[in-house]
Amino acid sequence: MKILVINAGSSSIKYQLFDMTNESVLASGLVERIGMDSSIVTHKPTGKEEVVEVKEILDHVAGVKRVIELLTSETSGVIKSMDEVDAVGHRIVHGGESFKNSVLVTDEVKQEIKRLYSLAPLHNPAHMMGIQGVEANLPNVPQVVVFDTAFHQTMPKSSYMYALPQRLYKQHQVRRYGFHGTSHKYVSDVAAQVIGKELKDLKVVTCHIGNGGSLTAVKDGKSFDTSMGMTPLEGLMMGTRSGDMDPAIVPYVMAKEDLTINEVNSMLNKHSGLLAISGLSSDMREITDTMHENENAKLAFDMYVYRVKKYIGAYAAAMNGLDAIVFTAGVGENSIVIRQAVCEGLTFFGVELDEELNKIRSKDARIISKEGSKVKVLVVPTNEELIIARDTFNIINNA
Ligand code: ADP
Repeated sequence: MKILVINAGSSSIKYQLFDMTNESVLASGLVERIGMDSSIVTHKPTGKEEVVEVKEILDHVAGVKRVIELLTSETSGVIKSMDEVDAVGHRIVHGGESFKNSVLVTDEVKQEIKRLYSLAPLHNPAHMMGIQGVEANLPNVPQVVVFDTAFHQTMPKSSYMYALPQRLYKQHQVRRYGFHGTSHKYVSDVAAQVIGKELKDLKVVTCHIGNGGSLTAVKDGKSFDTSMGMTPLEGLMMGTRSGDMDPAIVPYVMAKEDLTINEVNSMLNKHSGLLAISGLSSDMREITDTMHENENAKLAFDMYVYRVKKYIGAYAAAMNGLDAIVFTAGVGENSIVIRQAVCEGLTFFGVELDEELNKIRSKDARIISKEGSKVKVLVVPTNEELIIARDTFNIINNA
């Protein structure tokens, strides 16, 4: 069985084709700058030469068409025809309160995703264009949608409500939803396997820290609380996002600097975080490479680490205990210094990092705490595309 996974953005389509017999990737790629003067298509067929094209791709229907041509072409293709593809799985950022699991795409499901546009105006309309692009090109292939928010739908009301007039929740769905759910679920499952216990018997904090970042308290095998909120702006300090701050800063700065809603939104999402504090970069590698000579980079690093630590402490208290801390995503999987700095000073909780194990680079899920550490520390590489492919596979086989 072959499954095509699509992550559609407003001007891009990321794709991976999986052979589910052994979960191998047959090809991956990216269509960028859709609808702009020169779109770029990068296609990477496994075992064949990469293809990079600059051409006009007007919309997502044309983008999906080009992906299909490349996947089936004689020179750069990996399959003979799209008849070999049994289903398409899509990543959808926001499932609101409607979707607690992945589902098969039907007319009702599409209506519901559209109803949620106002909660994720940058993402959900783009995902819908991806679904429509597949429908137009492959009308008979079933599609499945996998939501970033679904895993967090188990949070208790005391975790997800904001202390605002309840009317805002009832009328405008203002509440915490949380994101990166596919990743938090996957890495907590794998961590339990590596530890050799049932996830439902563990209290785990999963740290998905990449360009965006969120921490989740996983208790009884379910999301109990998570640091991102109604949108992916809340919580940790991120590459370009502010994370938590006093909300009164927003009207204050808007008045002082005469900013519009769009301008302040852009400041908080695109011009804050590591980039703003370091004045250098949103990329953690550049921060850690320069922090010994550059005091702003050092401040950015210290603030970032401090925020992760505070959340780990808060979630340990919220769960009345902590059995494991799991690091994943770009920074969590690769940054030895970040993992070390986060774990330093957590001996009070029973966290004892093994400095040598922490330094070993590997693609495998592994424990990096000392043998007797009360709290286990793990690195678990995430793979959101594979999880989408697996969910799609399971739904198609049980339909
Ligand atoms: P996204 O949120 O875009 O999916 P990723 O999970 O790919 O992001 O993470 C990207 C981040 O990972 C970047 O900030 C990058 O600097 C960081 N990163 C990747 N490798 C390293 C490394 N060796 N050391 C520190 N940071 C790293």
